Amino acid sequence: MSTDLHTLPVRSVKGVSLAKAKELEELGIDSVARLLEYFPFRYEDYRIRDLADVKDGEKVTIEGKLYSEPSVQMYGRSKSRMTCKVFADPLMIQTVWFNRHFLKDRLRPGAQLLLTGKWDSRRLQLTVAECEFPGGSSSRSGTLQPVYSITGALAQRWMRKTIQQALVQFGALVAEALPKQLVDKYGFMPRKQAVYRIHHPDDVEEGKQARKRLVYEELFYFQLKLHAFRAIQRQKEDGVAHEFNNEDVRQFVRALPFKLTDSQKKVIAEILHDLKEPYCMNRLLQGDVGAGKTVVAAAALFATVKAGCQGALMVPTEILAEQHKRSLEKLFEPYGMTIGLLTGSLTDRQRRDVIASLHMGLIDVVVGTHALIQDDVLFRKLGLVVTDEQHRFGVNQRSILRRKGMNPDVLTMTATPIPRTLAITAFGDLDVSTLRELPKGRKPIKTYAVGHDKLERVIGFIRNEVSTGRQAYVICPLIEESEKLDVQNAIDVHAQMSHAFPEFRVGLLHGRMTAQEKDEVMRLFKENQVQVLVSTTVIEVGVDVPNATVMVIYDAVRFGLSQLHQLRGRVGRGEHQSHCILIADPKNETAKERMRVMTETNDGFEIARRDLELRGPGDFFGTKQSGLPEFKLADMMSDFEIMEMARDDAAELVAQPDFWTSAEMLPLREFLQREHILDGERLD
Ligand code: ADP
Ligand code: MG
Repeated sequence: MSTDLHTLPVRSVKGVSLAKAKELEELGIDSVARLLEYFPFRYEDYRIRDLADVKDGEKVTIEGKLYSEPSVQMYGRSKSRMTCKVFADPLMIQTVWFNRHFLKDRLRPGAQLLLTGKWDSRRLQLTVAECEFPGGSSSRSGTLQPVYSITGALAQRWMRKTIQQALVQFGALVAEALPKQLVDKYGFMPRKQAVYRIHHPDDVEEGKQARKRLVYEELFYFQLKLHAFRAIQRQKEDGVAHEFNNEDVRQFVRALPFKLTDSQKKVIAEILHDLKEPYCMNRLLQGDVGAGKTVVAAAALFATVKAGCQGALMVPTEILAEQHKRSLEKLFEPYGMTIGLLTGSLTDRQRRDVIASLHMGLIDVVVGTHALIQDDVLFRKLGLVVTDEQHRFGVNQRSILRRKGMNPDVLTMTATPIPRTLAITAFGDLDVSTLRELPKGRKPIKTYAVGHDKLERVIGFIRNEVSTGRQAYVICPLIEESEKLDVQNAIDVHAQMSHAFPEFRVGLLHGRMTAQEKDEVMRLFKENQVQVLVSTTVIEVGVDVPNATVMVIYDAVRFGLSQLHQLRGRVGRGEHQSHCILIADPKNETAKERMRVMTETNDGFEIARRDLELRGPGDFFGTKQSGLPEFKLADMMSDFEIMEMARDDAAELVAQPDFWTSAEMLPLREFLQREHILDGERLD
């Protein structure tokens, strides 16, 4: 078992003195196991290459024969420049060595050498950085050499040598750490081999394979902790066991104007199951824009009300609150259920009415913005809280609302899987459901990026679409930190569009309008009494008008990729072919690249990932700031898919009764014991 190596002090490795052991400890290396698991963060390429393939200025390792006596020029006591000719078949090249005159005596003509350095193809000259005599002790050449992160007095060479030594002495004792079923499932190399290969891969691909296995392992253990903890939580009975009749929900679903996708059915079943259980549900529902999350929330709220409780649906904007209220009303009224609305723009009197009704239990489901979480809002019996577009809310707001009930079940919905989802899946005592498919019959949105000079053609395009009965959004340029200018812009664009389309009704929507005004415009647009809607980003999330098929976005370079994806998601919600036109004059490569991503993919997950890539890791996903767990090897961003694999596997494993009893799983249970998960303590 590898635990032996965990208790074995690093001094057991030959060549590690007491002083060195202290320095290793500074790096957190306090055992042989830790030393072996001190993985390189990159490799240096010492593979021998043919100079013919090397570009000017590149670093290269070559093999050659010394052709001339070295000639040395000294500059002062220690500085020197040494040159000698080397025959690197078929070229005779010049080599230059700085401050290496002490090697002079070993450089005899005819000697065979391995040289690493920078190649100057014009002068046929190599500036030597490292030299190796074949048969020497540390034979780097011909290999990829690991590069370790080191500090203080430790040298890279020493670290390489020491880890190599540890592998020689103890590598054979490295034990498998994953259940056989998982190693087999992915065809992973055995752990022993992976540990060896990550330090010394034969080629880059092998290094990647080894890394992937070890990353998986790290994330698997992490996820195992979360899921085992969650499994134990589930046995607690601290929530509401909603009692409703499944048949009632089935009937509700049958009455919907469309057939649910398989994904939706599966997710609804998961949620209904949780609602019935006495523990407290905490579930995240993720699904790309347009995947149909609302109806899932509706089914859950319906079941809650059937069980005699109240439900709350919290959304980030008033427009969305209105929209959800209206669609829930349509769905719930036939069953005699009442829907309330609570937003910041109600009059005092309206607000008092809603609050009183909620308290008395006269409202079954309340839809609202952050106005829902004020102190004086109390429920009679809050059973389920749904938060839509969760990424727009801080975590606190959610927990405040949660505390208003008797520990209600919680469902959070989001279309932006990164980085929020990452954060919560990583931390979360949270179950995740995913809508993996869009409703049938959707056609991928066609996206184009065009310059401002093409405005005439864009207008022509809108005219064509609207003439066939469709509708269009025009999103105005965004002016940061100035709502006033945003509004002015919207008014200007509205005037321009009204002028361009005398035959259509052109609507206007911006943040300075009153709730009633906004609501009226949205209603007209929804009823196709307005054909072209000029708007600021107030419609960014959630708005649902399936007949709209054109989304024009002015100054698209000013928006983030995920934001563009959200905006684009306002179209493509029905069976008609939809189009998104990004008006952009990219000013730099990044902007151009972003437009390219948008035109190439409709996949929200991919877009979120590219967004983070383009913004760079330091932006808002710095692990330190976000408080995300730090991994030795895994990277939350680039290894997200492996994280998902590990998550699903861990969940599946702890769900097997076998996991808690079988001898094969004992090492995993011992791990959980060591981590105090089995005591049911809280995760930190
Ligand atoms: P989002 O996941 O972005 O919140 P919505 O819930 O707003 O998506 O749904 C997008 C559109 O798809 C809505 O018009 C909705 O009525 C419709 N829709 C949802 N589920 C289905 C389905 N199974 N079949 C057809 N249309 C559906
Ligand atoms: Mg939505």
